Amino acid sequence: MPEDRQFYLAQLKERLQYYREMGIDSLSVKASLNTGLAATPVKEASFRPGPASSSIVSVKRSSLFESSASHQRSGESLENIRNDLGDCRRCKLCSGRTNIVFGSGTSQTPLVFVGEGPGADEDAQGLPFVGAAGQLLTKIIEAIQLTRDQVYICNIVKCRPPGNRTPEEDEIAACSPFLFRQIDSIRPKIICCLGAVATQTLLGTKTPVGKLRGRFHDYLGIQVMPTWHPAYLLRNPAAKRDVWDDVKRIRALLDELG
Ligand code: SF4
Repeated sequence: MPEDRQFYLAQLKERLQYYREMGIDSLSVKASLNTGLAATPVKEASFRPGPASSSIVSVKRSSLFESSASHQRSGESLENIRNDLGDCRRCKLCSGRTNIVFGSGTSQTPLVFVGEGPGADEDAQGLPFVGAAGQLLTKIIEAIQLTRDQVYICNIVKCRPPGNRTPEEDEIAACSPFLFRQIDSIRPKIICCLGAVATQTLLGTKTPVGKLRGRFHDYLGIQVMPTWHPAYLLRNPAAKRDVWDDVKRIRALLDELG
């Protein structure tokens, strides 16, 4: 029964949260629950080094819709988070940046895109995804009948890594709490992770994005669709078909959720 599933999911999440507070930062569970969730085996559970409320549990999609209702917005405004970030010096990326790229779009949205970090154009303008990859992202958003103003776009790290290198673990650890707060503030229905860094950070996994894309995952009751980064598409145009498939799933779920 749906009430039972909600109850057992709430219990499960409470238990996982307890483990995290105990300092246990990874956990694998292979047993099926001997409850109304018996048809919903928990394949894997893991915690990422985010805020205390952060956990990811991979479970059956229909159950996630039920569980998502229990998660509310944090009530913190994006403006407050930005003010808290200030003239951030929390990691070494501060030394080479021109601008902090906090995010753009609306907080009143069911859909958030999360990328890796700013590039040269983004660093210069202080806005995410405004270079060539950004223009491609704009087309992707428009392909599902949305505009950039109707979604929110941000990155795992908010300062440009030198030479556009991949952000390092300590930089992600320093910056990602602000992303988690942005997400908690917006509470979108869906997050589209662009590329490996966004996907792996949000889902707390090292699994390659190629093995995760194409289906939804759970982040605290929010549906997460990993897909290729637009910059990768510029180098590998054949992968555009995958992204199109992924964003069509996002469109369909948005329609389904109303
Ligand atoms: S990347 Fe994030 S944590 Fe590092 S300096 Fe920039 S805003 Fe601060």
